[in-house]
Amino acid sequence: MAEATDRRDAQSFEAGGSNRPKPVTTLRGWLDHLAASGRLAVARPDLALSFEIAAVAKRLDGRKATLFPRPGGHPIAVVSGLVSDRQWIAEAMGVEPHEVLARFQEAVLHPLPCREVGNAAAQEVVHRDVDLTRQLPVPVHNEHDNGAYITAGLLIARNPATGVQNVSIHRLQVSGPDRLGALLLPRHTNTFFEVAEAAGQPLDVAIVVGVDPLTLLSSQAIAPIDFDELTIAGALHGAPLAVVKCVTSELRVPADAEIVLEGRLLPHLREPEGPFGEFPQYYGERARRHVIEIAAVTHRTNPLFHTIVGGGLEHLLLGGIPREATLLSHLLRSFPNVRDVHLALGGVCRYHLHVQIAKRQEGEAKNIMMGAFAGHYDIKQVIVVDEDVDIHNPAEVEWAVATRFQADRDLMVVSESQGSRLDPSARNGVGAKMGLDATKPLDAPDMKFKRIRVPGEDAVDLGKVLVPGEDWRGILRTGAP
Ligand code: MN
Repeated sequence: MAEATDRRDAQSFEAGGSNRPKPVTTLRGWLDHLAASGRLAVARPDLALSFEIAAVAKRLDGRKATLFPRPGGHPIAVVSGLVSDRQWIAEAMGVEPHEVLARFQEAVLHPLPCREVGNAAAQEVVHRDVDLTRQLPVPVHNEHDNGAYITAGLLIARNPATGVQNVSIHRLQVSGPDRLGALLLPRHTNTFFEVAEAAGQPLDVAIVVGVDPLTLLSSQAIAPIDFDELTIAGALHGAPLAVVKCVTSELRVPADAEIVLEGRLLPHLREPEGPFGEFPQYYGERARRHVIEIAAVTHRTNPLFHTIVGGGLEHLLLGGIPREATLLSHLLRSFPNVRDVHLALGGVCRYHLHVQIAKRQEGEAKNIMMGAFAGHYDIKQVIVVDEDVDIHNPAEVEWAVATRFQADRDLMVVSESQGSRLDPSARNGVGAKMGLDATKPLDAPDMKFKRIRVPGEDAVDLGKVLVPGEDWRGILRTGAP
C-alpha cells in the first residue's frame, strides 16, 4: 500500500510539497546527512596530500564519503566521495532512485534563474596575493599524474556575445603559485575563449570548489549553449540559487560555495599539462594546453576543499547521470516507447548504453541504436532490451544478450565513426559503434520467451517460515524444532 502511494506522489516533484524529503541545498547539509546515516568517514589529521588521501577515498569509494582534517598539515580540510552511489543522488534530490532521471529532466525543462545577494559566505576571506601552493590543499591522485590537480572545480565563464554564464568541470593542474593548466574540450567554455582569443583578450573565469551535490550534478548537464547550468541547480533545489559577484570580475558564483578562484584564461598561450588519470581508467596524455592565471582566492572561514579522485565512482556517476537524462530525452523525441536508459559502470558511465523499450515493431531496436549513437559521440555500444530486463543490473542485461540475441541478425556495426578521444582503443577519437538487439521477437509463441518464475517468491516472509538451523540433525530426528 505504502509503495503504491509513493509511486502516485512521484508523478509531481514539487519541492517541499507533500511529505517528500526536501532536496539538499548545501555541502555542509549533505555532510550532516551522510554523517547521520553512518556514511561519512573522518580520517586522522595530517594524512599526506600525495596519494594517501586518494588511496583512502578510493578504498571507501561507493560506501562512504571521507573528510580529511589538516591534510599534509594544511589548515583547510579536504572532502571526497560526496556521491558514490545512485541511491545517494536520489536522496540528495529527495526522490526514489527510479525517479532520478525524470527529476533531472524536469529541472532542465523548468530552470530557475539565480538570485543575486550582496554578502556571501564564499567571500568571508579574500586573498588578492595568490599562492595556490600555500593557500589550498590540492592533492595528487593517481601514480603518474603530473602533480596536484583541482578536480572538483566548477569553471564558470560568460559568453562574450550574450553575457550568459556557463558551468563545466575541467581538470586543472596547479602549474605555479597563480597558474593553472586546463583541459578545455570543444564545448561551451572553449567556444567563449575562442571568441575572446580572436580579439586578443583573456576570458574571465571563476573556479568554484565545494558545492552541494545537486549543483555538482547540474554542472554536468549536456545543455545547449547559453543555458546557464546554475539555473538547473536552482530547479533541483526547489529555490533559486544564491549567487554573488566576484571580487575581480563580473562573473556570478554560488554564494554558499566553500572556495572560489577568480582568474582569466590567457590568450595565445599554451603550456604543458598532464598526464592525468581520467574516467576511462587511463591517463590523459601530456600536451600543450590552456593556461589560467588566478587573480584572487576567496573562501569561507574554515572552508572545505572538495576533491574528486580521477576514475572513482564519484567521477563516473556525476558525469553519467546527467548524460542518461539527456540521452533519454533525446531518444523519447523519436521513440516514445523507450522506457529507460542506463550508462553502465563497466562502460565508464559514458561508452556503453543500455536501453529498455516496450517493443511495438520489429527492427525498431536498430533505429533506437542509431538515435543513441547520434545522441552523443561518446556512445560506443548500445544494448536494447525488453521491459522485463533490469537495465541497472549487468547480469540481467548479459542474460538478455545470451538468450535473445543472435550476432548474425541482431548485431549492427558502424565503422570509422567519431568516438571518445579518451578511449585508448580509438585512433584519434575515431572508432566503431556496436549495437545489440536483445529484444524478443514480437511473433514468438507465448511460452518461448516466458521468464520462469516461482509463485510467491517475492511475498514469502522468511522470518515466519524459517527456524534456527544449528540443531538440524535433531530437527530431522524429531520432526520439530
Ligand atoms: Mn553549457
